[in-house]
Amino acid sequence: MESWGEKRFHGRQIFAALHRRGVKSVGEMMDLTLKLRERLADFEPLDSLFPVQELKGEDGTIKILFRLRDGEHIESVWIPKGDHATLCISTQAGCPLDCTFCATGKIAFKRNLSVAEIVDQVIYFRRLKSDLLLRNLVFMGMGEPLLNYDNLVRSIRTLYAADGSAISQRRMTVSTAGIVPKIEQLRDEGLKIKLAVSLNAPTDELRDRIMPINKKYPLNVLFKALDEFCLKSGDRITFEYTLMPGLNDTDEMIHALRKWLIKMPCKLNLIPLNPLDRRRRKQTDWDGIFDRFYEVFAKDKITLTLRRSRGAEIRAACGQLAGKTL
Ligand code: SAH
Repeated sequence: MESWGEKRFHGRQIFAALHRRGVKSVGEMMDLTLKLRERLADFEPLDSLFPVQELKGEDGTIKILFRLRDGEHIESVWIPKGDHATLCISTQAGCPLDCTFCATGKIAFKRNLSVAEIVDQVIYFRRLKSDLLLRNLVFMGMGEPLLNYDNLVRSIRTLYAADGSAISQRRMTVSTAGIVPKIEQLRDEGLKIKLAVSLNAPTDELRDRIMPINKKYPLNVLFKALDEFCLKSGDRITFEYTLMPGLNDTDEMIHALRKWLIKMPCKLNLIPLNPLDRRRRKQTDWDGIFDRFYEVFAKDKITLTLRRSRGAEIRAACGQLAGKTL
């Protein structure tokens, strides 16, 4: 606004209109002068996301497929629980990482999302669900957040701004497959967000096979960076561990996992594997698997949880976002 020769506070008014009130057009910015609204009119339309399909799960989970201005697609998932909700958002269209068990890895990587495209996912759902408090924001949708680092950090700063969405940083979680140099950069960023790491395998041999990024940043390198991150943030890291029966849940694997985790304060979140192929849905005793992990970790200061899968019937659960209509 200053560079336009306008008053500085108009900048804050516009920010609040867009980010707190979520207005859809300049015409709704009634606290601005008509002259300024006319000058701003050139910037319309404001939307960067166009909903293509909205799917609602039995438990209230909502998955929306958005088309972006250039025709690419992304998905976001709204997960209500009682009087509040968690929103899971995407940071890239597609994903370059190629993890074998994840649907997003199966589609081609298209591009990084802009700050507007990341932030608009939040604004869209706040408009849609204005009756429910958006409490937690997780960067666990499509893509690898730390490979879109600059836009991720700018989005976080925008989303916690007091005159915007005002989401507490402590309630934002960035999930990464383990991009070590970016974990180091994030450590020094001065943010207070939570870090989650998709571990999924406790040996390099297995992790190399299912998460090729491990060949670039093997476990000892990853854990060194995480140690330093913990020291600086004073916070616990959450490890996500997608349960792949027979592969990463054997006694040997559980003990190998414990060796890594007991060195640092952390949480371990076990995630039932969601099959990529709808037909291969077989009954697995996830609680039984959880109990086997629990036996090994019971005496440690590690919080163990089993993530209840939400929205699998609309392919909105972990690892199921493929950016296409059902
Ligand atoms: N690229 C980031 C953000 C995506 S988070 C990351 O890897 O952390 C998506 C989460 O879903 C990851 O923890 C991943 O391990 C998990 N996931 C992927 N495919 C899955 C599947 N088929 N079933 C259950 N969880 C899966």
